[in-house]
Amino acid sequence: ALTAGIVGLPNVGKSTLFNAITKAGAEMANYPFATIDPNVGMVEVPDSRLARIDEIIPAKKIVHTTFEFTDIAGIVKGASKGEGLGNKFLENIRQVDAIVHVVRAFDDENITHVSNKVDPLDDIDTINMELVLADLDSVNKRYARVEKIARTKDKDALAEFALLQKIKPVLEEGKAVRSIEFNDEEKKLVKSFFLLTSKPVLYVANIAEDDMADPEASEYYQQIKKFAEDEGSQALAVSARTEEEIAELPDDEKQEFLEAEGVTESGLDRLIRASYKLLGLATFFTAGGKETRAWTFKAGMKAPQVAGVIHSDFERGFIRAEVASFEDLDKYGSMQAVKEAGRLRLEGKEYVVQDGDIIEFRFNV
Ligand code: GDP
Repeated sequence: ALTAGIVGLPNVGKSTLFNAITKAGAEMANYPFATIDPNVGMVEVPDSRLARIDEIIPAKKIVHTTFEFTDIAGIVKGASKGEGLGNKFLENIRQVDAIVHVVRAFDDENITHVSNKVDPLDDIDTINMELVLADLDSVNKRYARVEKIARTKDKDALAEFALLQKIKPVLEEGKAVRSIEFNDEEKKLVKSFFLLTSKPVLYVANIAEDDMADPEASEYYQQIKKFAEDEGSQALAVSARTEEEIAELPDDEKQEFLEAEGVTESGLDRLIRASYKLLGLATFFTAGGKETRAWTFKAGMKAPQVAGVIHSDFERGFIRAEVASFEDLDKYGSMQAVKEAGRLRLEGKEYVVQDGDIIEFRFNV
């Protein structure tokens, strides 16, 4: 499964946020906790479309799709040189598909900051620099090796060498590989380098509870947001401590609590949604059986592959997919009406599934 790794300096609120995630996940009915790694937290992806589908095509239960976060131990300066849990830390980041970078954006004299002052940009730089150095290390090693092979005019080696020549100076400037624009071929190749700074990042500002109603007013959040924008990344403000409290509340009290705080949606829900998007994930639905259910697929996947998300037999024996969009079901109010409007589609092997598709797969067993 695709996973987003939570990283950040010590004492910025990572564990607090991770606890909120785990607690929210603990309420999920069907989750086999026993098999899960303690560093992995599962949450349901909030999606209001499920309730609407279930209203139109009632089933015994609603099943949300899930999303995985991995808690990665705190990074310190020098990690790329093996300081602290340096190597293990970098190895863990290598395993994740996207990075959720938590940055301290609250003042609190009682909570020590590793560098004794709250300075979001300096904090971001500390972590990013360790990742850049680690990448520079792998690029340099590869560079020397590929340069030799490229001299033999080997086509693949030449392409790889050209790409390394593009990446190396950017890293030497202290910038992330994700800030470089690549064409499709380069993108494929870059992926095979497994560089840490080529992964997508979501910067999460851990703001003070008082700033929750109006995060934009937080100077710290503004700094983080500006940095993210310049890099082509996204930023989000949450109060980790509040999220942990919210996660412990029963559902009906949750809404009340959020209203009292002056917000409509919990920060955790926004975080889940943003991370889901960051990973290029999308949702399709199945309905009409015992359950109304949301499933995750990777945007761009074709119908047979998507069928395989449900069961590998569905992929192997794929014949076709009967597809209605959520918008149409919502608009026409029943599958029958969607069909009568000529909006129920029969799609084949080449169909690129869209977010919000409600699908019934036809397959051979
Ligand atoms: P980690 O080292 O990044 O995992 O940080 P923790 O989650 O352990 O948090 C460090 C300390 O900061 C703990 O005492 C938390 O209770 C506190 N903390 C976390 N989030 C907030 C917050 O939003 N506001 C305040 N005032 N304290 C927080």
